[in-house]
Amino acid sequence: MSGRPVADAYKEKIKEKVEAAQKAGKKVTLAVLTVGQDPASFVYRKRLLKMTESLGIESRCVELPEAASTAEVIAAVGELNEDTDVTGILPMMPMPKQVDGEAVGTALAQEKDMDCLNPVNGGALLMGQGRWAACTPRACMAILKFYNIPLDGKHAVVLGRSNVVGKPVALLLLQENCTVTVCHSHTNNLPDILRQADIIVAAVGKAGFVTPDMVKPGAVIVDVGINVTENGIVGDVARSATEKASAFTPVPGGVGVVSNVMMMDAVVRDL
Ligand code: NAP
Repeated sequence: MSGRPVADAYKEKIKEKVEAAQKAGKKVTLAVLTVGQDPASFVYRKRLLKMTESLGIESRCVELPEAASTAEVIAAVGELNEDTDVTGILPMMPMPKQVDGEAVGTALAQEKDMDCLNPVNGGALLMGQGRWAACTPRACMAILKFYNIPLDGKHAVVLGRSNVVGKPVALLLLQENCTVTVCHSHTNNLPDILRQADIIVAAVGKAGFVTPDMVKPGAVIVDVGINVTENGIVGDVARSATEKASAFTPVPGGVGVVSNVMMMDAVVRDL
């Protein structure tokens, strides 16, 4: 399940929405807020800005110094909330340690929150409104949908329970009538549980964590992991394990590719 065709299909729809909004005289702008000089944030920002440009979305970079306080960051968010030219806001996480990242997320206007950092949007997701979910879990679902993977009644096992991937993807799968099991570092008999899965979503952050003995023949695997190793970037699922699957997302070229497009999709969410 390559991510590229999924991303391309979304890009077409996004471009149409952007063009229609611009024709109606509306600005479509993604604001990216960075605090300090975290290199990974700048790499991610560069990738996002390239994509905004290719889709006709305007971008605005707001940079605050490394020593900025929580109050200063929240004030910057407040200005962007009020700015009617700004459609979406992405504060880059993690922020320097003196900044309360959760408070920054909470300060985001609900409709401008691009990656579900505001607990109000987390609550909306819990109540079944998947449109507010973060980009990566929505990317997992977009891939499963694009490749017509049956979900209703299937046993989905999610490996990982982070707020940004594991928990929200579990809720989105539940919304699609999967029976969902969430595994984490305290789970007993994890291989036994994984072997029962019709669908595995691996978001554990450990290279090759899922081995062939943990995969039921014919299972569908969504590999969210991005692990930098001597052999390049690899996922959480060993290559030998994907051979037992009926369908799987490659790493790289799977979830990551769609995830970035989902950020653009969030920008045009209400257009
Ligand atoms: P995270 O916050 O570190 O969460 C990892 C989860 O895995 C935790 O819930 C942890 O359990 C669990 N875990 C760790 N070791 C385990 C073990 N031995 N057995 C079972 N569970 C274990 O990571 P994340 O932010 O969710 O990201 C997960 C992976 O996805 C990373 O490789 C990350 O780079 C990647 N990622 C990719 C994208 C994309 O666009 N493709 C986006 C975001 C993240 P506990 O909760 O018990 O600690």
